[in-house]
Amino acid sequence: MSQDRLAIHTITTKAWDLPTAVKKYAAANVPGIGVWRQWLDGRPLTESKALLDDHNIKPASLVRGGFFPGLTETERQAALDDNRSALDEAAAIGANQVVLVCGAKPELSLPENRKQITEGIAACIDHAASLGVKLAIEPLHPMYSDCRSAINTIGQCNDIIDQLGDAHIGIAADVYHIWWDPQLEQEIQRAGKRIIGFHVCDWLTPTTDFLNDRGLMGEGCIDIKYIRTLVEAAGFVGPIEVEIFSDRHWARDPDEFLTDIIDAYEKHVLSDSALKPPKH
Ligand code: ZN
Repeated sequence: MSQDRLAIHTITTKAWDLPTAVKKYAAANVPGIGVWRQWLDGRPLTESKALLDDHNIKPASLVRGGFFPGLTETERQAALDDNRSALDEAAAIGANQVVLVCGAKPELSLPENRKQITEGIAACIDHAASLGVKLAIEPLHPMYSDCRSAINTIGQCNDIIDQLGDAHIGIAADVYHIWWDPQLEQEIQRAGKRIIGFHVCDWLTPTTDFLNDRGLMGEGCIDIKYIRTLVEAAGFVGPIEVEIFSDRHWARDPDEFLTDIIDAYEKHVLSDSALKPPKH
């Protein structure tokens, strides 16, 4: 099986700083990386880019921007400034997209949160265009709609992109957030090549922590192979990013975890799905 499209988010191997992660991924023939912004702290961006280039590791994404809603104009403006910085960082390390966790304030209504998100994304388009970096909207599972994201389905992403255009905006489809959606097939078809990111992990039963208890692919109930066939039928050919927040896996030997990630990727992501994508 080929690892050509495999990318791993730095948060997945949380114990490793960027120099270590890059070295370990390269040694394991993992060609891609999802770079969380904290992993860029403490060294010039040019040095981080050189680290990636020297090891021939390609950044699939910069994670993350977003968090657009605010209770005050000052707060909303600070969010825009931060998103423009994220776009600058992505361009500096050669990542073609910033993943947007769009944000939400429990003090605001869902429609108001969604309005502010749409306005926030719109306000970043010119900067994204000037850098050639895309804004990748990641819908989050609705359990996070109070304070992490009021954008919860691929359908909502499609609606925003219908409104704002798809030249500089795409969708990051994370199986953890979208697997439950009864409209998934139709909305992935509707999205087509708007899907520019694909994140994998698994949903555990029971889930003991809503943030840091994601499963390794194959440990849970998500038909990852099927969702992969759906996004590929829609035209997605990009990297497949392993993004696992897990106190359980983070407590393990990271080298062993990396070996298991590669094994799980081959068995539970790449191999053929028993289900076939709908013909269209
Ligand atoms: Zn994700």
